[in-house]
Amino acid sequence: MHEEFITHSAEETFELAYSIGEAITSPTVFLLEGDLGAGKTVFAKGIAAGLDIDPAEVNSPTFTLVNQHEGRMRFYHLDLYRIEGGGDELFELGLQEMLNEPNAVVLIEWPERLGAVAIPQAVQVTINDLGGDERRLSLCYTT
Ligand code: ADP
Ligand code: MG
Repeated sequence: MHEEFITHSAEETFELAYSIGEAITSPTVFLLEGDLGAGKTVFAKGIAAGLDIDPAEVNSPTFTLVNQHEGRMRFYHLDLYRIEGGGDELFELGLQEMLNEPNAVVLIEWPERLGAVAIPQAVQVTINDLGGDERRLSLCYTT
Protein backbone atom coordinates (compact mmCIF):
# COMPACT_ATOMS: atom_id res chain seq x y z
CA MET A 1 0.00 0.00 0.00
CA HIS A 2 1.22 3.48 -0.85
CA GLU A 3 0.12 6.82 0.65
CA GLU A 4 1.19 10.43 0.19
CA PHE A 5 0.74 13.43 2.44
CA ILE A 6 1.76 17.07 2.15
CA THR A 7 2.50 18.89 5.40
CA HIS A 8 2.96 22.63 5.84
CA SER A 9 4.74 22.80 9.18
CA ALA A 10 6.83 20.70 11.56
CA GLU A 11 3.72 20.44 13.78
CA GLU A 12 1.72 18.89 10.94
CA THR A 13 4.46 16.32 10.28
CA PHE A 14 4.56 15.57 14.00
CA GLU A 15 0.76 15.11 14.13
CA LEU A 16 0.79 12.83 11.10
CA ALA A 17 3.50 10.65 12.66
CA TYR A 18 1.67 10.78 16.00
CA SER A 19 -1.49 9.30 14.48
CA ILE A 20 0.59 6.57 12.83
CA GLY A 21 2.43 5.84 16.09
CA GLU A 22 -0.79 5.79 18.08
CA ALA A 23 -2.17 3.04 15.85
CA ILE A 24 0.82 0.71 16.28
CA THR A 25 0.07 -2.43 18.28
CA SER A 26 2.65 -4.88 16.89
CA PRO A 27 6.37 -4.71 16.12
CA THR A 28 7.00 -2.25 13.31
CA VAL A 29 10.08 -1.06 11.43
CA PHE A 30 10.26 2.36 9.75
CA LEU A 31 12.90 3.10 7.12
CA LEU A 32 13.02 6.87 6.96
CA GLU A 33 14.67 8.56 3.98
CA GLY A 34 15.17 12.25 3.35
CA ASP A 35 17.93 14.85 3.14
CA LEU A 36 19.37 16.63 6.17
CA GLY A 37 16.69 18.90 7.56
CA ALA A 38 13.85 17.14 5.73
CA GLY A 39 12.08 16.34 9.00
CA LYS A 40 13.07 12.75 9.79
CA THR A 41 13.62 13.48 13.48
CA VAL A 42 10.36 15.45 13.68
CA PHE A 43 8.65 12.34 12.29
CA ALA A 44 10.49 10.13 14.81
CA LYS A 45 9.29 12.37 17.67
CA GLY A 46 5.70 11.97 16.48
CA ILE A 47 5.97 8.17 16.33
CA ALA A 48 7.49 8.20 19.82
CA ALA A 49 4.71 10.40 21.20
CA GLY A 50 2.19 7.92 19.77
CA LEU A 51 3.96 5.24 21.80
CA ASP A 52 3.57 7.34 24.99
CA ILE A 53 7.20 8.52 24.98
CA ASP A 54 8.03 12.17 25.70
CA PRO A 55 9.03 13.58 22.29
CA ALA A 56 11.38 16.05 23.99
CA GLU A 57 13.60 13.06 24.83
CA VAL A 58 13.84 12.01 21.19
CA ASN A 59 16.83 13.57 19.45
CA SER A 60 18.87 12.49 16.45
CA PRO A 61 21.23 9.71 17.61
CA THR A 62 23.81 11.05 15.18
CA PHE A 63 26.81 10.12 17.34
CA THR A 64 25.38 7.31 19.46
CA LEU A 65 23.83 5.68 16.34
CA VAL A 66 20.99 4.29 18.44
CA ASN A 67 18.78 5.60 21.24
CA GLN A 68 16.38 3.45 23.22
CA HIS A 69 13.14 4.74 24.75
CA GLU A 70 10.52 2.99 26.84
CA GLY A 71 6.85 3.69 26.19
CA ARG A 72 3.89 1.36 25.81
CA MET A 73 6.32 -0.33 23.41
CA ARG A 74 10.10 -0.07 23.29
CA PHE A 75 11.33 2.42 20.70
CA TYR A 76 14.72 2.09 19.00
CA HIS A 77 15.70 5.21 17.09
CA LEU A 78 18.69 4.74 14.80
CA ASP A 79 20.57 7.28 12.72
CA LEU A 80 23.00 5.48 10.43
CA TYR A 81 24.42 8.61 8.80
CA ARG A 82 27.84 7.97 10.31
CA ILE A 83 27.96 4.23 9.78
CA GLU A 84 30.95 3.20 7.72
CA GLY A 85 31.54 -0.49 8.30
CA GLY A 86 28.13 -1.56 7.02
CA GLY A 87 27.14 -5.04 8.17
CA ASP A 88 29.81 -5.45 10.91
CA GLU A 89 28.91 -2.22 12.67
CA LEU A 90 25.19 -2.96 12.43
CA PHE A 91 25.83 -6.41 13.84
CA GLU A 92 27.67 -4.85 16.79
CA LEU A 93 24.81 -2.42 17.34
CA GLY A 94 22.55 -5.44 17.77
CA LEU A 95 20.21 -4.50 14.95
CA GLN A 96 19.09 -8.09 14.41
CA GLU A 97 18.11 -8.45 18.07
CA MET A 98 16.14 -5.20 17.93
CA LEU A 99 14.28 -6.44 14.86
CA ASN A 100 13.45 -9.70 16.63
CA GLU A 101 12.09 -8.15 19.81
CA PRO A 102 8.42 -8.98 20.40
CA ASN A 103 7.33 -5.51 21.51
CA ALA A 104 9.61 -3.01 19.79
CA VAL A 105 9.28 -0.30 17.18
CA VAL A 106 12.49 0.34 15.22
CA LEU A 107 12.91 3.56 13.26
CA ILE A 108 15.97 3.94 11.05
CA GLU A 109 17.12 7.29 9.67
CA TRP A 110 19.47 6.92 6.69
CA PRO A 111 18.48 3.32 5.81
CA GLU A 112 20.58 3.80 2.65
CA ARG A 113 23.51 2.87 4.93
CA LEU A 114 22.09 -0.59 5.63
CA GLY A 115 23.89 -1.84 2.53
CA ALA A 116 23.24 -5.54 2.09
CA VAL A 117 21.43 -5.91 5.43
CA ALA A 118 17.89 -6.81 4.44
CA ILE A 119 14.82 -5.72 6.41
CA PRO A 120 12.04 -8.07 5.37
CA GLN A 121 9.00 -6.07 6.51
CA ALA A 122 9.03 -2.33 6.92
CA VAL A 123 7.20 0.92 6.38
CA GLN A 124 9.25 2.96 3.95
CA VAL A 125 8.88 6.69 4.51
CA THR A 126 10.42 9.25 2.18
CA ILE A 127 10.32 12.93 3.05
CA ASN A 128 10.87 15.48 0.29
CA ASP A 129 11.44 19.16 0.97
CA LEU A 130 9.11 21.05 -1.38
CA GLY A 131 10.47 24.43 -0.30
CA GLY A 132 9.64 26.60 2.67
CA ASP A 133 7.87 24.52 5.29
CA GLU A 134 6.20 22.23 2.78
CA ARG A 135 7.12 18.54 2.83
CA ARG A 136 5.83 15.55 0.90
CA LEU A 137 5.73 12.32 2.90
CA SER A 138 5.45 9.10 0.90
CA LEU A 139 4.63 5.99 2.88
CA CYS A 140 5.01 2.52 1.45
CA TYR A 141 3.90 -0.50 3.44
CA THR A 142 5.64 -3.67 2.33
CA THR A 143 4.22 -7.00 3.41
P1 ADP B 1 16.30 15.53 9.72
O1 ADP B 1 16.21 14.62 10.90
O2 ADP B 1 15.61 15.01 8.51
O3 ADP B 1 17.70 15.97 9.41
P2 ADP B 1 14.92 17.38 11.47
O4 ADP B 1 13.63 16.68 11.75
O5 ADP B 1 15.98 17.35 12.51
O6 ADP B 1 15.51 16.87 10.06
O7 ADP B 1 14.64 18.91 11.15
C1 ADP B 1 13.63 19.35 10.28
C2 ADP B 1 13.60 20.88 10.35
O8 ADP B 1 12.68 21.39 9.37
C3 ADP B 1 13.12 21.36 11.70
O9 ADP B 1 13.84 22.52 12.05
C4 ADP B 1 11.65 21.68 11.44
O10 ADP B 1 11.15 22.68 12.30
C5 ADP B 1 11.70 22.17 10.00
N1 ADP B 1 10.43 22.01 9.26
C6 ADP B 1 9.80 22.99 8.58
N2 ADP B 1 8.70 22.54 7.97
C7 ADP B 1 8.60 21.24 8.28
C8 ADP B 1 7.65 20.22 7.96
N3 ADP B 1 6.59 20.44 7.16
N4 ADP B 1 7.85 18.97 8.46
C9 ADP B 1 8.93 18.72 9.24
N5 ADP B 1 9.87 19.63 9.58
C10 ADP B 1 9.72 20.88 9.12
MG1 MG C 1 17.68 13.53 12.06
